[in-house]
Amino acid sequence: MCPVPGILLANSSPNLILEAAIKKGFLGMNRRIEIKASCSRHLIDVPEPHIGCSKCAREKPGLRELFGED
Ligand SMILES: [Zn+2]
Repeated sequence: MCPVPGILLANSSPNLILEAAIKKGFLGMNRRIEIKASCSRHLIDVPEPHIGCSKCAREKPGLRELFGED
């Protein structure tokens, strides 16, 4: 099972780059997939892929009004 499509659905950041790496544990057990996300626009790591790049989120139209900034 691949978790990437779910992550892509969950956030709407068009600049998100996802890298999946399969990490093998001792003797090939405990295999798990690690997702690393980064933003191609701001060139920063995105620690929470399902949320997306926080800088991109801040640039979305309409969001400033929500936070009361102008
Ligand atoms: Zn960004």
